[in-house]
Order: sequence, then structure tokens, then C-alpha cells
Amino acid sequence: MPTRYDASSVEPRWADEWVRRGLFHAEVPDDPDLAYCIVIPPPNVTGRLHVGHALGRTLEDVLIRRARMEGLRALWVPGMDHAGIATQVVVERELRREGIDRRELGRDAFVERVWEWKERYGGEIIGQLQRMGCSCDWDRQRFTMDDGLAHAVRVAFVRWYEQGLIYRGERLVNWCPTDQTGLSDSEVEHEEVDGELVTFRYPLSDGSGHVDVATTRVETMLGDTGIAVHPDDDRYSSLVGETVRHPFDDRELPIVADAAVDASFATGAVKVTPAHDPTDFEIAQRTGLPLLNILDAEARINANAPEEFYGLGRYDARQAVREELEKLGLMVREERPYRHAVGHCYRCHSEIEPWMSGLQWFVAVDGLKGPALEAARDGRITFSPARWQRAYVSWLEGLRDWNISRQLWWGHRIPAWYCPDGHVTVAVEDPSVCEECGATELEQDPDVLDTWFSSQLWPFSTLGWPEDTPELRAFYPNRVLVTGYEILYLWVARMIMSGMSLIGDIPFRDVVIHGIVRDARGRKMSKSLGNVIDPIEMIDRYGADALRFSLARLATEGQQDISFAEDAVEGARNFSNKIWNAARLVLQVFEGGTPELPADDRLKAPQRWLLARHQRCVREVNEALDRFEFAPAAQALYRFFWSEFCDWGLEMEKERLRSDDEAERRDAADVLAWILERTLRLLHPVMPFVTEEIWQRFGIDDTIVTAPWPRSIEEHERLGAETEASWPVVEEYVTTIRRIRSQYAIAPTATLGVRFVDGASDRPLHDAVTGGFASEAARLAGTSAPSSEQPGPGAPGDIRFVVGGETVVLSIGGAIDVERERERLTSRLRAVEADLDRSRGKLANQGFREKAPEDVVLAEKHKVDRFEHEAASIREQLAELG
Ligand SMILES: [Zn+2]
Ligand SMILES: [Zn+2]
Repeated sequence: MPTRYDASSVEPRWADEWVRRGLFHAEVPDDPDLAYCIVIPPPNVTGRLHVGHALGRTLEDVLIRRARMEGLRALWVPGMDHAGIATQVVVERELRREGIDRRELGRDAFVERVWEWKERYGGEIIGQLQRMGCSCDWDRQRFTMDDGLAHAVRVAFVRWYEQGLIYRGERLVNWCPTDQTGLSDSEVEHEEVDGELVTFRYPLSDGSGHVDVATTRVETMLGDTGIAVHPDDDRYSSLVGETVRHPFDDRELPIVADAAVDASFATGAVKVTPAHDPTDFEIAQRTGLPLLNILDAEARINANAPEEFYGLGRYDARQAVREELEKLGLMVREERPYRHAVGHCYRCHSEIEPWMSGLQWFVAVDGLKGPALEAARDGRITFSPARWQRAYVSWLEGLRDWNISRQLWWGHRIPAWYCPDGHVTVAVEDPSVCEECGATELEQDPDVLDTWFSSQLWPFSTLGWPEDTPELRAFYPNRVLVTGYEILYLWVARMIMSGMSLIGDIPFRDVVIHGIVRDARGRKMSKSLGNVIDPIEMIDRYGADALRFSLARLATEGQQDISFAEDAVEGARNFSNKIWNAARLVLQVFEGGTPELPADDRLKAPQRWLLARHQRCVREVNEALDRFEFAPAAQALYRFFWSEFCDWGLEMEKERLRSDDEAERRDAADVLAWILERTLRLLHPVMPFVTEEIWQRFGIDDTIVTAPWPRSIEEHERLGAETEASWPVVEEYVTTIRRIRSQYAIAPTATLGVRFVDGASDRPLHDAVTGGFASEAARLAGTSAPSSEQPGPGAPGDIRFVVGGETVVLSIGGAIDVERERERLTSRLRAVEADLDRSRGKLANQGFREKAPEDVVLAEKHKVDRFEHEAASIREQLAELG
């Protein structure tokens, strides 16, 4: 084995080799209980691996690799999302550089360009996932716009249309005037802004008075078609049925009563702008107020408004309307800044405009919610952490109809055709005649479907739905879905609704929601902050194993957001080096093959202890992974391997590994090799590369990828119970003596005398270091065997310490020059005391305390603490020396 582990040469070799050997391919099992399936959250085809992906994919790979080793048919379905807007924007930008506008190019040519772009540049992320070691079944890679999935989308659309779950209607959409497209509610981000609250006056038509109304978007008054008050509001009850006069164009606006009005807000009367506000839209539906659209697609005032405002942008119009109201003496009050939440586009951050965008398609979610809520409430689907179940349920309960029309060219075109008479034909295959009148001039709906419409089908469309395939029968429901919480609603909830509706069963049993990866200071990673950690850079620098381990170790219980920094990856790289070096040591002695343990009665105490600790590690890892708690699993592996196996186990066995007694030597090698080999398998799901590279050298089988997951051996806990019970005091005993040695700079070769002060009858430490751990404790602490001779009156250089209630005397007098050490300590003490006096003097000085800056005074106080502490510890040492 090379002395140094070089991840950069080992990892790419295995990444290729695993794929070449088809180890990640999952055959369909005959027994459905053997199926274990995870679908990857499909990354955007334009995407590059970011650290959030790296976290999610690490957790998925840990689950899939473990399931595969447990003998299950573990299928991890990879693929990509066509990502409507994101991809269209990329290609539009490319065209613009060539001086081409997509409208000049035309729809078909443009879509062809996007496909070309996809073939050439799309899917960089797939190679990056392979570099990470993701054990996806790459033969089953899917794309949300491949032929099979396009068919699935059409079937889903048609089925829902026929069931009345998809309808076409004139509805308000969340319109982004910059991207020129409608957005679903979940794509709108609500943020507080400093706006204004303007109260103005509508005169009653009969001149008998007026009604004051307040608004944050005063320009929308151009589209007001009524005034609404709460039916129980006595202030206005006599006015219901009257009208007010619009000050700019003399239109008469009826005053209506509607229970949606909040009588406690502002004046209690509200202006109703049905074409530009969702609540007003609903009031208008109930009260029969007309719709008046006053904005064009770019959010400029259109010709439905009085001429003087025509063509103004929405913000200019806001000012112009305000000025006009002032001029007419109708302005009542202006509050500015007025802090309130405004919807923004999740892509370009423009303010969203509720807008009537002709006829669009909607999913009637009320017909889908029920079974999706039930599945979560009755526990058929679980959420980890459990708190997300509540969030999911309350979001679903409040969900409104889902607008699925997108004014884009890249995506699944809506499978609806219109004849010249306006009849609608919805079909899976392109129709040639109108269903209703037989007309042959059909025009397909120009819009495409929301990207989430296709990705909601992902857990089953990727398995062949709507065909009844063996894959679908075996691998649906999927076992687990792992994702970040930011798409719990956008994606997870919709997969559950569509799975329940189209298949009649849940799409997956467990939803694992992980946190967002932030920087070391807890800030979101962003280009503008310059704090983005590129996972590929981390892999190049430290290896994929290191990246994976560091992320898994941070995926804490509760899966809160993660603070991530490069040194975590560096630490994990050191861990892989530690594993490598330990393996070298063991494999120098172990002859290879499948390690087997010596008979129980041959096992030495330290060996029994190590076996028990190993068994505990196996149990902790399994228990944690069963609960989808990745950090405790990684932590148990780290603790066991680094501390128990390397720092203690290997150290204690070293002597035996070099022993002249062949049986003893072989027993030690067998125990270490047996534990190492199993620990490699236990580590494999999180650190696949280094474990494979080492495991090969056992010469057991082709690959660790399909090696069996280590089974739990409870007997080992019993076997080592006694050694485990006495271990904490043995460890403390050795550590204490090592600390004293380093404090007095005692040469590593010097052997110190040690005595136990006879006291209690129960002496676990004494028994352990004179019994089972005798030679190991003496060697690791550098002492002779504890003498039974009782200590006389403290000889110079006798140091007493207490471990587990037992008093131990360590004689260092022979190993150091006690007189010189005493002098050195005394002179050091004098210097520290002088420093201490000086600092105390300063602090006693009133002038200093009052004039010096606060932090200087504080620093001085800290100095006093430090000097006091050092002086006390020197005095203690002097006392120890006698
Ligand atoms: Zn936008
Ligand atoms: Zn027709």
C-alpha cells in the first residue's frame, strides 16, 4: 500500500469502474419487499452542482448504498428537469449575443435551438454527480421532456381534464412583467418593502357625502369598479346600494357588502379592483362587479384608463394618480414609508402584478387535496423531521387552484386545441378535427405547462407510467424522498397529490427534509457575498469522500440549516488519511482473505473491549440511519474509528502485532483485520472511494459496493461488557499520566514508578491496570507495573492524582532533576506574580479605569485572570514536587 492516500487518483478511477461494471443497475425483483427506490430530485438541465445538491445527494447515496449492501434491489433513478424559464432564458441570452431575437427566429426554430443547447451543454451536472460517487442507475436516466415523460404529461393532463380537475378559466394570475409569464403562488416570494398607504376620497354620486378608501397601489384606482364594506359595519350600512363617482372619468361605482372586507383596516371601506387583486376578484365574482383591466403585459397603463395616464409605467402612474387626486382635493392622508409585504418574482425579483392574462389552464386542487392530506395524517407518509408534517398539512389546506399555463416556448405544450368556433379539444395524440364540430383548422394552445406539472409525475413517470411496467409495479411507491425544504410545497406536495390521484397510492413512504447549507457565519451563500463554496473545488482539493463525510456529519438531528466551511472538508480529508494509515498498519500483518475472529477464550481484554465498542458503533449507525439522522451516524463512525480503533485499539495491539509468539501475533492481526474490514463496509455508504480502495486489498471479492452490510452481533457487547465498564478509568489513568509527562517534559523512554494508595475494597482501576489491561496501560503510560508497596512520607517528585476515587502516586523524581525543576518553576512563578501585580495596579488606578477605552480595561482584567490561573497551577506543581 502506498504510504500516502491520493484521493485525486483513486476516486475518478473507481467512479468509472463502478459504472463500467454496471454495479448500480437495479434489476426488478420478483419479491416486491426487496425493492428500494429513491428518485433524484431532478436538477435543472442548466444546473451546475452546488453545495445544496451535494448535501442532498450524499444523504440519498448513503441510503441507497446501504440498502444495496443489505441485499435489497436498490434503484436510484437519476435525471434532469427541462426547467422551463431557466433554460429559455439561457438560450435567449445566447441568441441575443448573436443579435437574434427569439420572436424573429420563430417558435419551432427556437425550440430546436434549445434542444441543441441541451445536447451540447446541458447535463454538466450528471458528470459532477458521478464524480461525487453517486450510485444512480445511470442506464435509467430520464429527462422531464423525453418521449416517455412527454407522453405521461399528456395522459395526466387529459385524465384530469376528463375528471373535471383541469379547467380553463379567466383568472387572475401572478404576472411577472419582466419575464412576461404567469407564476404559481409558490413561485411568488413575499417580502416586506417600504411602500406607501394612501387614503383618498370617492364622492357619492348624489353629492350627499363621500367614502374614504386606503390603498398601497393607488394607480389601481383607475381600474376600480366598486366599493365594498362589511355587511355588519353600521358606519356604512345605509350606503350599500348607493354609488360613488369616479373622479377621472365619471364612472359610477356601486357600493356593495361582502364579508371578505376587514372592517378594522383603515376606513373599513375598500376600493374594489377585480382585475388587479385576487381578493377583489373574488368579491367581484360574488357581487357581480365588472372586471376592468388597466395594465398591459409590461405593467403599463393601457387604453382602458383615461388618456392622460395611458402608456405610463406602473410606478409613474402611481405618482401621476396621486398628484391628480391632490389637485382635485381628494387626497385625505399619505403614510410613507408604509411597511408591507409585496409579492416578488422568484426569478427576477420584479414586483408581481395580479393580472388577467386571457384564458389560462388551472388545476382544481380541491379535488386533489383530500387524499394527499389523509396520507400524511394517517402516517402512510412520514416526514423527517416530523415538524414538517404540520407545515405540509396547513399549506395544503390553504392551497388555491394551480395556474399551470406558462407563456413560454420551452416546455410541454398544453395538449388543448381550439377550432375557429372556439371549441376545445383536449387529447393525448394531436387531433386532426374538432371534437365538437369536426372543423379541421385547429390551433394548439400557445402556452406550455408549468415545469412542476411534469416533475410532479417524476416518482412514477420515470418508472414507465402510464404503461403498467414491471418497474412501476416493483418500485412504486418509492421508499424515501430526500429534499430541501424550499421545495416541500412546490414539488413534494404536488407529487403526493398526483400520485394519489393518478396511481391511487402514495409516491413514497418517507420524506426526509434537510436544511440549507450556509456559510460559517450562517449567511446564505451567494455570488454577491462571495461566500459560495463550490463542491467540485472541494472535491478537487480534498476528495469526494471528504466532501461527503463533512456534509453528512453536519446533517444534524432536526436537519436545521448547516453552517459549512472549508475546514470541515479538510477535517474529513484528514479522516480518510487516518483510515488509510490504520489500514496500512493492519494489512502489513494480516495476510488477506476474509478475516475470522479467534475463539472467544483466546481474546485479550483490550480485544474484547474493541469488539464491544465496534458492535456499539454498528448499532448506533443503524439506529441513526433508520431514523434518517445522518450526523449521529457519521459521528459514531468517526468516534469509533479515530479514537477507539486508532488511538486506543491499534496502540494497545501494536506490541502483540510485533510479538514473537506467532499465535498471539495472528490473533491480534485477525481481530484488527476483522474489525477494520467490517468498519470499511459500515463506512462505505458515506465514504465509498477510500473504503473500496482499501477493501480491495483484503482480496475477498470484486467490490465492496455489493458486499453485505455488517450485521449486528449482540454477543460482542456481552463479551466485552466487563472491559467496557472499567475502560473509562483506564483511559483517564493513561491520559492523566501522559499529561503529567508532557507537563514536566519527561523523556518518552523514561519509565515511571507508580503505586496505588490502598483504600476502598472495590478497586476497578487497580484491578484493570494490574489485570486485563496491565501490559497495555503500563506501555501507553510509560510506567512500570504498579507496585503494591505503600508510599512512605512523600518523596520529592511524588505526584498524587485521583481517578475514579482511587488515589495513585506517580514517581517522576527519578526522571527529572527535581531541584532544577523546582528552581525553574519558582523563577517562572516570580515573573508571573510580577506581571500580576502590574496588572492589578493598573486596574486599581481610578484614572486608568475611567479614561482607558472599555476594551482595554476588559483586556487587562482578562490578563489578571490568566496570570492568577498560571500562578495557581505553578504553585500546584511545586507542591506536587514536594
Ligand atoms: Zn420575473
Ligand atoms: Zn369546433
